[in-house]
Amino acid sequence: MSLLSSANETQARRDAVARALKARRLDALVVSAGPNLRYLTGFTGSHGLLLLTQDDPLFLTNPIYRLQAGQEVSCKIQVGTRQLMDELAPAARKRRIRTLGFEAGRITFEAYSVLKSKLARNASLEPVAGLIERLRMVKSPAEIALIRGSVETNSRAYEKALSRLRPSMTETEFAAELEFRMRRFGAEKPAFDTIVASGPRTALPHAQPTDARLAAGGTVLIDMGAFQAGYASDMTRMFFVGKPSPRMKSAYAAVLEAQLAAIDAVRPGVKSSAVDRAARNILKAHKLDRYFVHSTGHGLGLEIHEPPRLGMKDHTKLEAGMAITIEPGVYLEGVGGIRIEDTVLVTGTGCEVLTPTDKALRVV
Ligand code: ZN
Ligand code: ZN
Repeated sequence: MSLLSSANETQARRDAVARALKARRLDALVVSAGPNLRYLTGFTGSHGLLLLTQDDPLFLTNPIYRLQAGQEVSCKIQVGTRQLMDELAPAARKRRIRTLGFEAGRITFEAYSVLKSKLARNASLEPVAGLIERLRMVKSPAEIALIRGSVETNSRAYEKALSRLRPSMTETEFAAELEFRMRRFGAEKPAFDTIVASGPRTALPHAQPTDARLAAGGTVLIDMGAFQAGYASDMTRMFFVGKPSPRMKSAYAAVLEAQLAAIDAVRPGVKSSAVDRAARNILKAHKLDRYFVHSTGHGLGLEIHEPPRLGMKDHTKLEAGMAITIEPGVYLEGVGGIRIEDTVLVTGTGCEVLTPTDKALRVV
């Protein structure tokens, strides 16, 4: 399968956005976020803009990306040497655009100011939030295949790195081993900074690896993900160097029970918040819910964190084709933390856990 989205696929996505613009009475949308540009045009570079209109979309970039845009982008391309917003304004004037949407959460104030000052006087700029992201929530079969590939690479890298584990390794060295294996197995890069935390530092949900040696720690938490062919995977696993304490052992059992209950709740039509509640209720029964300080999961795809958020306040109804994580955790200050995370696909009847890595308590 090609690494790049087919021209037909990106065209269909642009058409879907154009229809949504029409419904909002917008003439056009300036797309500036990298993942959204990739989704709508195929462009994988870091410097581009899309002026998305009903029938005459235009991709703008600078000379650095002339060749690459020619190879990747499936619509008309304009290469200019001025700031991209400077290049875009005349194109918008030429197309007589009166109402121009922009990605409110993605654009800098500077870019907004340039655009505002260069547009025609009678044109208005309208903030648009989450429109493309909502379309991106449900993945196509081709996207699902890429996520599957990313998940498999991530899990293989974990097993390979674990087979090379030495008790004298530091958290940083083990993180390097995980990321090295990930790339060797086909990933472009990690989807986020790999978390390797040991001992009481596992109570920090987003711990940075340090030069602490794993052997000293007892509990080890690994949170890792790959970007492969542009698509993210995300997994958290724990292992114990030597026997875990009774408290950590029972916390592990409780979190695993919560994670399985949340997975059980995943099916089309169920609200994100209900999946979160399923995990939270189990932890409550174990009197651990107040140590669960984040949501149960998140969507993932071209970005590591995408809508929906599987939290108390997100009532998005799950649909077949959504890729999400399920990752409850508990964090006991001064003692340690437990989190278990899988990448999960919502199917027509329920869900499929994509992550193949075993979740039984592991002692190395
Ligand atoms: Zn994670
Ligand atoms: Zn995650």
